[in-house]
Amino acid sequence: MQKVLIPLSVDPVRNSGKRLSFDGYIPSKHLPRLNEVLASPCSDVEATLSFATDEQKIHYFRGHAKAKVELICQRCGEPMAHELAVEFQYAPITKRQTVEDLPEHYEAAELNELGEVLLHPLVEDELLLALPIVAKHTEQDCAIKSDTMSYGDIPAEAEKRNPFAVLQKLKK
Ligand SMILES: [Zn+2]
Repeated sequence: MQKVLIPLSVDPVRNSGKRLSFDGYIPSKHLPRLNEVLASPCSDVEATLSFATDEQKIHYFRGHAKAKVELICQRCGEPMAHELAVEFQYAPITKRQTVEDLPEHYEAAELNELGEVLLHPLVEDELLLALPIVAKHTEQDCAIKSDTMSYGDIPAEAEKRNPFAVLQKLKK
């Protein structure tokens, strides 16, 4: 099955009336802010989006997205593979639908002067927020083993304690 390109921008109010949905991808090169913080450009992002109106007649859209990325391990400094997966649910802000009207489970989506929401930067924001604060390999995948780190620590600790221990022996 050929995946469709997720449109860059849509009118979320009109689309929710039509109950449109998309199952496709966002090209990696459309996500410069995300790629800037990665070790290498990410994969194309797989995403689904569906537009609808809820029982309170609020226009909204929701979706999920996932991308394979490469981060730099903060322990060993080598690249590490990571998968980002996000889910989101937004309601567009319009004259009739203000931020104050929105139930908490919707995030507010700003529209441009054409009444459209820019989907690629929106998904990019979600992926940026999903990045781990500190990226680290699992212990077995990391070039620096925690074993070797603690071997490094022990002699230093022992040196500090040794003179003291000697003093204590002398006192007895
Ligand atoms: Zn590592």
